[in-house]
Amino acid sequence: MTINTKFTETFGVEHPVVQGGMQWVGRAELVAAVANAGALGFITALTQPTPADLANEIAKCRDLTDKPFGVNLTILPTINPPPYDEYRQVIVDAGIKIVETAGSNPAPHLPMFHDNGIKVLHKCTSVRHAVKAQSLGVDGISIDGFECAGHPGEDDIPGLVLIPAAATKIEIPMIASGGFADGRGLVAALALGADGINMGSRFMCTVESAIHQNVKEAIVAGSELDTEMIFRPLRNTARVASNAVSREVVEILNRGGQFEDVKDLVAGSRGVKVYEVGDLDAGIWSVGTAMGLINDIPTCADLVARIVADAEEIITGRLSGMLESEQEENVA
Ligand code: NAD
Repeated sequence: MTINTKFTETFGVEHPVVQGGMQWVGRAELVAAVANAGALGFITALTQPTPADLANEIAKCRDLTDKPFGVNLTILPTINPPPYDEYRQVIVDAGIKIVETAGSNPAPHLPMFHDNGIKVLHKCTSVRHAVKAQSLGVDGISIDGFECAGHPGEDDIPGLVLIPAAATKIEIPMIASGGFADGRGLVAALALGADGINMGSRFMCTVESAIHQNVKEAIVAGSELDTEMIFRPLRNTARVASNAVSREVVEILNRGGQFEDVKDLVAGSRGVKVYEVGDLDAGIWSVGTAMGLINDIPTCADLVARIVADAEEIITGRLSGMLESEQEENVA
């Protein structure tokens, strides 16, 4: 049995499961493993130091899978602004057919992507931004609730309200992000009106994710309480793992500090060391509240198969078992 939705049909993937962009994590090995598992993975463009490196990473991913995969382009405040146009050009030249945009209005990028037959899945954190992106002509929405890792926006609306509120207004395929890690989440997202789920932290914690084993074990050991929200006073909120660095950043900014006062603590160039050398206090690293639902380090194939099988079992077993026809009720 498979679960077919508007999302699987429009984006040409087997399962309604997505591994969205993750800075320092969305690399070829993981994305190819996700694709081979029948889900949709995204290489994170800005994880590659230069546009030429992105071209190489895309080529490497193609060597590892024949299935479709995409590239994520995130546009948020950065310490050194990257050459977005050059990354965009590499995506087009490489023949990528699906792009995940995130962080800001996708309008400047849409004409070039659409002119080149690229479908755009726009990740955003509010109903108003989802509606705006739909009106601009994006091909799908990834609506990201307060539970998520990385940048949840400033509205603090969890998925239980955000997903159905968005579903009421969104007609194009929409997947739900933030807090998803298992088959129960997939069924819940479908019930709330989404056409699939996006998972970050859950895919971080897989065999093929090219990050240090210590980070994966910390995710397994961690609970839903073990994250911090940094940059709140700067209106660039990011949910990251709770550690010595993130707690210090929260304290400095709460005392009225400015970005310059925390810049060295939060720099991505420092945070990447966590993933590379496995020192969990080396810098900032992203993880969502779904950490409380992650208890193992499976292969991507096992993970996706398990999520889909569990979702099917919940729908056809547990949920349908709760239904009673009127006739049965009368007999009883
Ligand atoms: P970086 O080293 O440039 O910046 C580190 C962090 O500081 C980032 O979260 C960034 O948004 C924030 N920041 C930078 N300048 C800022 C300013 N003037 N005011 C407030 N906040 C500021 O970034 P990086 O770690 O190399 O990451 C590259 C890109 O990927 C950034 O746009 C970053 O936001 C994004 N990212 C996204 C996620 C996610 O989960 N969506 C996670 C990590 C990074």
